[in-house]
Order: sequence, then C-alpha cells, then structure tokens
Amino acid sequence: MSIITVIDVDQTEVAEIRFDAISGSRSLFSKKAFQKNEVIIEFMAKDVHSQPNYLTVQIDENVHIELLPECLECCNHSCDPNCFFDTTRMHFVTLRAIAPGEEFTFFYPSAEWDMDQPFECHCGSSQCLGVIKGARYLSPESHRHYRFTDFIQQKLGIQLK
Ligand SMILES: [Zn+2]
Repeated sequence: MSIITVIDVDQTEVAEIRFDAISGSRSLFSKKAFQKNEVIIEFMAKDVHSQPNYLTVQIDENVHIELLPECLECCNHSCDPNCFFDTTRMHFVTLRAIAPGEEFTFFYPSAEWDMDQPFECHCGSSQCLGVIKGARYLSPESHRHYRFTDFIQQKLGIQLK
C-alpha cells in the first residue's frame, strides 16, 4: 500500500508529480490525453554539468543538463517507455498515445551513454532489460528497438564502425 500525494510544483497544464510517502519515490503523470509523436512540453536546461548525476539528461559529450520545468526530472525509466526526450529540438514527446492519469516514462539509455548510477529495473515490462547502465551497454537488438537522441545515435554509429 502506498500514500500518494500530488504535488504540482511547476503548475503545468500537462503533468503532475505524485509522491509516494512509503517508498519516497516521485513519478510524473499525465493530466491530459496525447496522440503518438505529440510534443508534451518544451524543456530547457536549468543547469549544465560536465558530469552526469541522477537528475541530468545527456545532450552531448560532457554536457548534462538539469531540466526545466523541473517536474520532468520525476519522469521514471521504463523498458517499455511512452515518452522520449528529443534533446535536439528540446521537446518532451510521446512515443505512443497516452491517456489522462497515465504515468509518463522514458528509456533512460535513450539519452544516457554511460549512466552515473546503474540500477536494477523493476518496470514490470515483458521486455524488461534488467540492469540499466546506459546506451553503450545495450545489445544490437536494443539499439534497433529503441529511439535514441541524436547524440546517442551518433555515439552508436561510431561504436558500430
Ligand atoms: Zn525494465
């Protein structure tokens, strides 16, 4: 059982943070319906770091940004994600249709080459990959299956040569 509190930090029309007091985890949920390939919200860099941390998204070699609106940092990983951070256009977009009240998730390695904090995934997806460490550790099948940022795609191209 869990006690869920809704926090609307950023006052966006599209998303709300839910805080689970038992696990201490935060999640990001949709407040409206979206079509596939729709822009949910545009984002910016609140802060830029040369090293990754658990809040950052990688946009280039040694360039890791903290996200604005900040609620986006609550978007959890799934091996079967419904969202994607397009770090070229700086758009948070849908990968499939999303219903109001559905959790937004993205595939962390889609925007992380080598993660600061690898973790064991419990997303519950039938295609769960287990330990998530970053795009460089994925199989060729996963490289074909998932959508990656332009930066990661470029890294994968270099790696495959
Ligand atoms: Zn998983």
